[in-house]
Amino acid sequence: MRRRAETFNALHPPRHARCGLAWLSGPELCMKGLCFLGLALLAAAGAAAAEDSPWLELKGQHVIVRYQGSRSFADDVRRRAELDYDRIGRDLGFTRHGNFWLWDNRARIDVYATRDAYVAASQAPEWSAGKADYDHRAILTFEGSQSFLDSILPHEMTHLIFREFIGFTTDVPLWLDEGVAQWADVANRSKVNAIAGNMLASGRLLSVPALTQLDPRRGASGGEAIEFYAQASSLVGFIMESQGSVRFREFCGHLRDGHTVDDALRFTYPGTIPSLEALDSAWKAHLEEARDEQAAGRIYTH
Ligand SMILES: [Zn+2]
Repeated sequence: MRRRAETFNALHPPRHARCGLAWLSGPELCMKGLCFLGLALLAAAGAAAAEDSPWLELKGQHVIVRYQGSRSFADDVRRRAELDYDRIGRDLGFTRHGNFWLWDNRARIDVYATRDAYVAASQAPEWSAGKADYDHRAILTFEGSQSFLDSILPHEMTHLIFREFIGFTTDVPLWLDEGVAQWADVANRSKVNAIAGNMLASGRLLSVPALTQLDPRRGASGGEAIEFYAQASSLVGFIMESQGSVRFREFCGHLRDGHTVDDALRFTYPGTIPSLEALDSAWKAHLEEARDEQAAGRIYTH
C-alpha cells in the first residue's frame, strides 16, 4: 500500500522541533515511516493564506507542476524535476525501464503559495518543507523553498521512482530505501560522506548486518538518525559507484521479484559482494582506502 511521506532533512534538523525525538517520533515519513529529509525553517510564512487562489499548471515531460504562487518558482520546480528525473533514472539504471512518468502517468508537484497554505492542506508539521503522497504520485511543497529544490525534490522523486520499480510493498531494509534517496541529494553528499568518514575514524561505523537491523524510528536520537542516513547513503553510493548502474538495476529487479537482499547480492554480484558480510568488508575497505588517500594527499601537498 502506498503511503504518504513527509520530508525532513537529516543534515539540517528542524530548529523548531522541541527536541530531536520530537521530530524523530513525529510524523511518518517516506516508505517506512521515517525520513528526515525535510527541512525546516524557513522564514516565517507569508501572511495571507492562499487557499482560494486558482491553481495554474505547468506541464513538463514527466511532471506536472500545479502552483498557486509565482510562475517563476513553479518553472524552477519543473526544470529541476526534469533534470532530476533524468539523473536519477541514469544513476539507478532505470533509464530503459520504460516510459514511466509520461503523459497521464506524470508525477504531480503541488506548489502552494505560502507555507501556511501548504501546512494546512497537507497536515505536515510547520517546519516541513515538502511531502510526498505515494497514493497519487504527488509531491507537495510551497513557494520559495530552496531546500525543496536542492534536497527534498530529488530525495522524494527517488523514493517514488525506486519504489515504483521494486514495488511499494516489497520489504527491503530501511538503509536501502533511505540510502538510495539520500544519495540522490547531491547537494548534501559531501556532508554525508564526511559524517561517514568521521564515524569510520572513530570506530563507530556500523557493520552492514547491524545497519540492516537498525530502525532509527525506534528511539534513536537526532544524532543517531543523522548517522543512520549518512551510513545508508555512503553504503548505497559505494554499491552504485563500484558496481555500476546496470548491475544496480539488476539488483533491484531481484528485490522486486521477492528475493532477500542477501540473495539479490549473491545473484547480482557473485564475484564481488555476494552477501551482506562481503558488502560490509568491501565498503569498509573502500572507506579506509579513501581515508588513506586523503591523508597521503594532505601530507604530500604540505
Ligand atoms: Zn526518505
